[in-house]
Amino acid sequence: MSIATVDPELCNGCRLCLDTCPTDCFRLDTLVAERAEQPPCQVACPAGVDMRRYLYMVREGMIDEAIGVLQDCLPLASVTGRICPHPCETACARNDVDDAVNINSLERFVGDRWIAEKPAVARIVYTAKVAVVGAGPAGLACAYHLARMGYPVTVFDSMPEAGGMLKYGVPDFRLPRAVLTAQIDYFKAMGVQFRLNTPIGGAGTSLDDLAAQYQAVFIAVGAARSRKIDVAGKDLDGVLWGLEFLRDVNSDKPVSAAGKKVVVIGGGNVAMDAALTVNRLGASRVQMVCLESDDKMPAYAEEKRQALEEGVVIDPSWGPKRIVGRNGKVIGIELVRCVGTTDAAGRFAPTFDEGETKFVEADLVILSIGQEADLSFLPNSVRVTAARTIQVDALTLQTSRPGIFAGGDIASGSATVVEAIGAGKRAAISIDRHIKAQDLRAGRDVKPKRVMKPPKERIPHIPRQQTQSIAVAERSCNFAEVKCGFSDDTSRLEAQRCMTCGSRAIIAYPEDCQMCIFCERDCPTNAIYVSPDKKEVPLMAWR
Ligand SMILES: Cc1cc2nc3c(=O)[nH]c(=O)nc-3n(C[C@H](O)[C@H](O)[C@H](O)COP(=O)(O)OP(=O)(O)OC[C@H]3O[C@@H](n4cnc5c(N)ncnc54)[C@H](O)[C@@H]3O)c2cc1C
Ligand code: SF4
Ligand code: SF4
Repeated sequence: MSIATVDPELCNGCRLCLDTCPTDCFRLDTLVAERAEQPPCQVACPAGVDMRRYLYMVREGMIDEAIGVLQDCLPLASVTGRICPHPCETACARNDVDDAVNINSLERFVGDRWIAEKPAVARIVYTAKVAVVGAGPAGLACAYHLARMGYPVTVFDSMPEAGGMLKYGVPDFRLPRAVLTAQIDYFKAMGVQFRLNTPIGGAGTSLDDLAAQYQAVFIAVGAARSRKIDVAGKDLDGVLWGLEFLRDVNSDKPVSAAGKKVVVIGGGNVAMDAALTVNRLGASRVQMVCLESDDKMPAYAEEKRQALEEGVVIDPSWGPKRIVGRNGKVIGIELVRCVGTTDAAGRFAPTFDEGETKFVEADLVILSIGQEADLSFLPNSVRVTAARTIQVDALTLQTSRPGIFAGGDIASGSATVVEAIGAGKRAAISIDRHIKAQDLRAGRDVKPKRVMKPPKERIPHIPRQQTQSIAVAERSCNFAEVKCGFSDDTSRLEAQRCMTCGSRAIIAYPEDCQMCIFCERDCPTNAIYVSPDKKEVPLMAWR
């Protein structure tokens, strides 16, 4: 006999009944597929990760099942679990109760467990071959999903190692090499083929050749070189470009910065990584100069905080006027006050007060003012936009040439790893349909419905488990990872804070119900009704 009932229209999935019931009658339905309502965190994640489901599994200690959830949508979880700017946490409904769930660190915890596993070799079920150009996160994600579907996939990359900006941009102290290597080894073990040191275009294989040999091509070549500015003195000895500087350091090339006074020009994440890196190479002083005012700097707040902790000086609202040299070597840089960065229409158009200038001594100047793509390998049949990205259909990622798809930074402009991963999956779905001559768009133009009334009332406050960092003193002159991971216990504690927004409580073991009515009494939405027999339950049953 079922004694209690749950009204699915009223239940918001807060899970209080699971905690309240002394006989453990309840379980959660986190799929709620027929309602197709996604929690705010999932709607905000560009890869659509189902946090509600996998965090519930972490809470229950079902780590293999949690890995299974990530396998469907987030092939680089140990990477994003370290460096994703986590828009999901900004959207997390728990912000209205106390503090967002630490989704990012939980993702790292599950992601690290995942890459420690031995992968199953993906079974090839199709003869149609797919080529992916670029082994950054977009290309890797696309190859992973296609391999899981059963396609033979070959990834071409011009560099000696796979990973794109994860390998040659992001420094080790944020993303250790061992983590990326394990992640890529996992894809190799699945059966994804890699052809490294193989640029497409130039003297090598052309895109037309690839299109002739493969049934579909995904272009994911990123924005792999620094955008140049024509500032006087840029060719002096001691002037470096941000991306190329990071690439050299990440390739173990000798870069001399010990004892040098360094000025980094730029306020974005690449400039921030350059500043934090050159600091670790033993620079005597690192000063970041950017056009934006302090509150408008585009770098992630977390990285900015770290830079300040580590002694980097941030000098906002200045622009480079000229780099000054003596005997062909940099001795400093002249800066001019920046009074605005955009025009009335919001377009980038910096303005300066030429009356306010200053000179900063420097032995090394690193210019890091943005990235751009090399599009020279594209045939005319693949159209590009005015912003020098590849023009794609926003839903299917197909380019102007059928059978050729593009995604990641090359189509979106410089963005984030998780956006590239999301694009890789969308492209894989399109490529599968293209090969099967199916409609690329059918059923895909549906915006997920967001859970409108996530739990809030009567949710007990529980302090967030914060991500710890190694002490500042331990970071000097080495590339040890700064952020620490969660232990099993911390993960479980933090996963318990997830309110599983929009899931539904189900009475899994009705025969165990003792009619104590605790669930009905404590349910914040009055969704639970216990049998009328409760009237006869002695008062003693109440706590
Ligand atoms: C220094 C730095 C720090 C960053 N930090 C973060 C961060 O903390 N969090 C975050 O989310 N994002 C961060 N990003 C952004 C993120 O790395 C990118 O958005 C992401 O890597 C884009 O992925 P992608 O696959 O489109 O391109 P990429 O990662 O750029 O990969 C493109 C690949 O294509 C290859 N390629 C290029 N041309 C050819 C060709 N003709 N033939 C064959 N191969 C070719 C390249 O060698 C490269 O391997 C950072 C970027 C940089 C540069
Ligand atoms: S990938 Fe980023 S946005 Fe998506 S769930 Fe993970 S941390 Fe959040
Ligand atoms: S409480 Fe959980 S399900 Fe709800 S938005 Fe936050 S992480 Fe997502």
